Amino acid sequence: MKRRILIIGGGIGGLAAGAALGQQGIDTTVVEIQSENLVAGVGINIPGNALRALRQLGLLDEVLAHGFTFDRVDFHDSASRLLLALRSKLGVDGVPANCAIQRKDLARILEKACVDVGTTIRYGTSVEKMTTTADGGVETLLTDGSTEHYDLVVAFDGIRSSFRKAALGIEPRFTGYSVWRVALERHPDVTRNMYFQGMGTKAGLFPLNTDVMYLLHVTPEPGNPRHAREDFHGHLTQRLAGYTGLIGELRDRIQPDDDIVYAPIEEVLLPLPWYQDGLLLLGDAAHAMAPHRTQGAAMAIEDAAVLGETLGRDGDLRELLAEFQDRRFGRAKIAQDASRNILLSEMNTTDQASLDRQLDFIRNGLEAVAHQVDDALNQPI
Ligand SMILES: Cc1cc2nc3c(=O)[nH]c(=O)nc-3n(C[C@H](O)[C@H](O)[C@H](O)COP(=O)(O)OP(=O)(O)OC[C@H]3O[C@@H](n4cnc5c(N)ncnc54)[C@H](O)[C@@H]3O)c2cc1C
Repeated sequence: MKRRILIIGGGIGGLAAGAALGQQGIDTTVVEIQSENLVAGVGINIPGNALRALRQLGLLDEVLAHGFTFDRVDFHDSASRLLLALRSKLGVDGVPANCAIQRKDLARILEKACVDVGTTIRYGTSVEKMTTTADGGVETLLTDGSTEHYDLVVAFDGIRSSFRKAALGIEPRFTGYSVWRVALERHPDVTRNMYFQGMGTKAGLFPLNTDVMYLLHVTPEPGNPRHAREDFHGHLTQRLAGYTGLIGELRDRIQPDDDIVYAPIEEVLLPLPWYQDGLLLLGDAAHAMAPHRTQGAAMAIEDAAVLGETLGRDGDLRELLAEFQDRRFGRAKIAQDASRNILLSEMNTTDQASLDRQLDFIRNGLEAVAHQVDDALNQPI
């Protein structure tokens, strides 16, 4: 009989899974708590491994058409002196190494892909109650009062997943660092991802399309303070005070009414099993990570592609899900560990001696470490 699957959360992972499962002929519904496809955040980089997963879903060309592709990441000091031009090894097998894109463009592409394969998206809706049934499925009461039976519920409800919290009591772990982001008119020199190592902080630039780029700044925020939105401009420009060169120039262009986004950097790594009592946790709900390898959404997209491929096969659902989670856990951990290692080595630069060591590592050691992770991510998903 045709499987019926409910996805909770219409973010990047949930919509990608809605498309992937729908493509396999699975009767799929996505419930999204927000009343429409509202996308928070600025832009996102999609690395080669996730571009290959998007190709599996037939979405590569459309994503590339809306994004900005590049295969080089340049590392500088805080005065914009180039330390390393790093060529990514992720651009193999016919995809570019990276494609940065505006989040709203990616959301529209994924939403259309769901609609095209008959996946239903119900905005302004969530799950109020779930009860496991004797057949291993789940009886759900939705917030609109309807009740439905599904073979499986997949929670792609993000880093603050209330379904993870209710089932397992697990909260995200704050790393001690946060990231500030703002979209700006693209500077002509920004044709690739660029990073700038400061003392105890790091700035970065991502081109998003020919007109727009975003600036990011990673800073220590002990105690995870809640800054007032009206203070964002002052905090960000003050924290960028030590930078000269390109970042100094761009800092002086940021306006008080620019839409600055501030986010604490947090992690979740759910131990196995990710599947229990009819509920599977995926995406940031299962494996949120520091953004330093731009792999958070990439792993959610990979989850979606592998889930579609696995559940499109006949067989016992529990056995298929056991195989699925074993395939996904190790990969998510590689991406998460690599991202955390970069974050900690960049932030552990609080005096001149440690900063000099980091600059030396960028010049002489970073490429080998980055390529080792690229090789791991280039393995089949
Ligand atoms: C600063 C920063 C930069 C990043 N840059 C990158 C990058 O360049 N590349 C990359 O790959 N990743 C990046 N990431 C990570 C990426 O944003 C996440 O990993 C990705 O969004 C996770 O997708 P998701 O679908 O699991 O969760 P989300 O995209 O967070 O979606 C969760 C969805 O669930 C909905 N929801 C929540 N609760 C409920 C409920 N009860 N019922 C129904 N719906 C619900 C939410 O409204 C939301 O739409 C970055 C993250 C940060 C913080």
